[in-house]
Amino acid sequence: MTKPRILTGDRPTGPLHIGHYVGSLRNRVALQHEYETYVLLADVQALTDNFEHPQKVRDNVLEVALDYLAVGLDPRAATFVIQSQVPEIAELTVFYLNLVTVSHLRQNPTVKTEIAQKGFGEAVPAGFFVYPVSQAADITAFGANLVPVGDDQLPMIEQTREIVRRFNHLYAPVLVEPKALVGETARLPGLDGRAKMSKSLGNAIFLSDSADEVARKVRGMYTDPNHLRVEDPGTVEGNPVFAYLDAFDPDKAGVQTLKDHYRRGGLGDVRVKRHLLEVLEATLAPIRGRRAEFARDRVGVEAIVRDGTERGREVAAGTMRAVRGAMRLDYFARVPDPMPTA
Ligand code: ATP
Ligand code: MG
Repeated sequence: MTKPRILTGDRPTGPLHIGHYVGSLRNRVALQHEYETYVLLADVQALTDNFEHPQKVRDNVLEVALDYLAVGLDPRAATFVIQSQVPEIAELTVFYLNLVTVSHLRQNPTVKTEIAQKGFGEAVPAGFFVYPVSQAADITAFGANLVPVGDDQLPMIEQTREIVRRFNHLYAPVLVEPKALVGETARLPGLDGRAKMSKSLGNAIFLSDSADEVARKVRGMYTDPNHLRVEDPGTVEGNPVFAYLDAFDPDKAGVQTLKDHYRRGGLGDVRVKRHLLEVLEATLAPIRGRRAEFARDRVGVEAIVRDGTERGREVAAGTMRAVRGAMRLDYFARVPDPMPTA
């Protein structure tokens, strides 16, 4: 019996943060033995808005791989693949671009938000504008059934499903239509109270931050700006301190008690933050420890990524053969041997 497949990935634009952990990494670790798992180090996608900083992207590939190992992705179960080393993905992207319209791409809500955030205006690089299409290529190249993501990625999965349906209908039913799996915390807010913690927004707690750094960040976190004195009633909604407790504190009843107390007044930010720090450290300390261990063997980590990329490329090449056949592009393909010898 073959296992169903997972494809997920991250842009190597910086080390991974606790939003990645609750949005996607936690699910990947939980499912890695049940699914054949491919994890893409999406350097080509990172370049779409970092093309002037290739060294930054290059350096972060290994950092993100270290984060994977640190959270417990097991390279014997999960295959780590460097996107740029699988040219089949770029090839698929070119063919898929015919199946979407510019006006449809313009409506993608996540890309719209990101274009605004990055201040591109009309000068948005074409590569960035079409990244949902290249993401469809990532997912389908590996024949993924399931894609564990944060909720900002839902429009990308929907776009992928549309492309797959279009392709299979027009040419031949060779592509797998994937489903999204959103983590228990669909979107973790930033330290600054903004809707999304993001590597690019400078509002993140990184999995690789030291204990001191985490403490400093938690102390400086945005809370309810009207909660000036301890006795004042405070607001829980939109308060990232409570969003983080919801995501990380296993004691749900305890979190509810804290929220009630905060709303009534009499619970100071300093005390809640002290509790939050303990809760975060319970998750982060072991991750930090494992990361430090793996970081001592960079050559070993590079080997894991190299082997994974080779295996990933074989899978993508298989998809590409089917796609070329479906699109009548298999000019020089060998006629398959009717009596396979293996
Ligand atoms: P960048 O700012 O460079 O886009 P990012 O922080 O958005 O970085 P990505 O590499 O784009 O990270 O996203 C990787 C995965 O992590 C995606 O599935 C995304 O949905 C998920 N993710 C990212 N940020 C969050 C968050 N704050 N909460 C939940 N999931 C998240
Ligand atoms: Mg992102």
